[in-house]
Amino acid sequence: ILSLSLQAKMSRPVQARRLEGIDKNIWVEFVKLAATYSKVNLGQGFPDFPAPDFLTEALTRALSGGNHMLHQYTRAFGHPPLVKVLAQFFEKLLGRDLDPMTNVMVTVGAYQALFCCFQALVEEGDEVIIIEPFFDCYEPMVKMAGGTPVFVPLRPNPPKDGKLMSSADWQLDPAELASKFSERTKAIVLNSPNNPLGKVFSCRELGLIAELCVKHDVLCISDEVYEWLVYDGKQHIRIASLQGMWDRTVIVGSAGKTFSATGWKVGWVVGPDRLLQHLRTVHQNSVYHCATIAQEAVAQGFQRELTLYGKPESYFVQLPKELQQKRDWLIQSLNAVGMKPIIPEGTYFLVADISQFKSDVPDVPNSDEPYDYRFTKWMVKNKGLAAIPLSAFYSEAHKNNYTNFIRFCFAKEDATLKAANDILQKWKQEKTS
Ligand code: PMP
Repeated sequence: ILSLSLQAKMSRPVQARRLEGIDKNIWVEFVKLAATYSKVNLGQGFPDFPAPDFLTEALTRALSGGNHMLHQYTRAFGHPPLVKVLAQFFEKLLGRDLDPMTNVMVTVGAYQALFCCFQALVEEGDEVIIIEPFFDCYEPMVKMAGGTPVFVPLRPNPPKDGKLMSSADWQLDPAELASKFSERTKAIVLNSPNNPLGKVFSCRELGLIAELCVKHDVLCISDEVYEWLVYDGKQHIRIASLQGMWDRTVIVGSAGKTFSATGWKVGWVVGPDRLLQHLRTVHQNSVYHCATIAQEAVAQGFQRELTLYGKPESYFVQLPKELQQKRDWLIQSLNAVGMKPIIPEGTYFLVADISQFKSDVPDVPNSDEPYDYRFTKWMVKNKGLAAIPLSAFYSEAHKNNYTNFIRFCFAKEDATLKAANDILQKWKQEKTS
């Protein structure tokens, strides 16, 4: 028995080298903290209100409506009714003809769409430009593909008139952006509307990025999961519709964000066949297929939205209206206690300045944990309010420059936002009494 157990003991490294340095994940850590301590969770990005009735009814119909084949495999690259309606929808949005079989692919959430993009398009040694702050998974996904992330920050320019800052005040420095492009650059990741800031890139900013992509023959991975969540009459512009960009852009989308059903994990990519054919190779050799029944229900959701396009009854019109109201409530609550919010132009996130709260949080001697991490952990444990530290959305090299902010999600029931307001008000009274 002894010799057997000696033989069975492995001494060689078991971990593949491509996983080095990417084992930590902010969501795993903060979701657990929120589950343990939070009374009000404005941390992770998901709605706590129900998905729309037309969507859940479509799922019920799919489940028990007599077509038992909806419980079986469907087409690997997307359930035919879903890719067809997505193609029709994006034809409208992009003003070009699309082939549902080659210009659209369905994925397991936008997350797998992104994974397919990096695995299919990034070669060992390629550089990929990522605009900071960014949805955290871009960095490890680029690294897992053998690529090197190159970061370029949005730089805040506070307004001089004492007004609250807007996400529009965070801008790329054109010269700095241009300096990141070289013959090693394979792709740039664009996320507009941007998580975590809520920035909606302007036509001029997108034009600048497009010009550099064309000049340096660079691809664009355009994460547009918050495409319908845009406020104050702002317009979401699709970079793929700019000159020279269709052929080099993959658009990434999410039914989770679009229809307030993040647990369904239905996502998609839209783009030219010359790019998507390689994403299909990754897809067929990894997950192969996404849940048929969820795809069927999402297809029906899009069918409804296609009929109601631009009309007041459309969910894509109603949802941003409701969210804008929620955004404004949270802005008021935060501003009233001196946690200065940065007004987001889009998404359901809001970043707030916590620099006036330093005296609330006990100093931890010799801790190299940034202030925003310490603050967020302290807040959830002592006040029951969960948020996410902003520096989690920055590269290791730059995160120490952005430790005075935290991110809240406001896709929440009015009662949840009221409970958050109560916590903040009570906190303020305790501070002043
Ligand atoms: N991209 C961004 C910018 C996101 O915020 C998220 C989800 N938080 C995703 C992609 C992943 O979307 P999904 O849930 O559809 O996988």
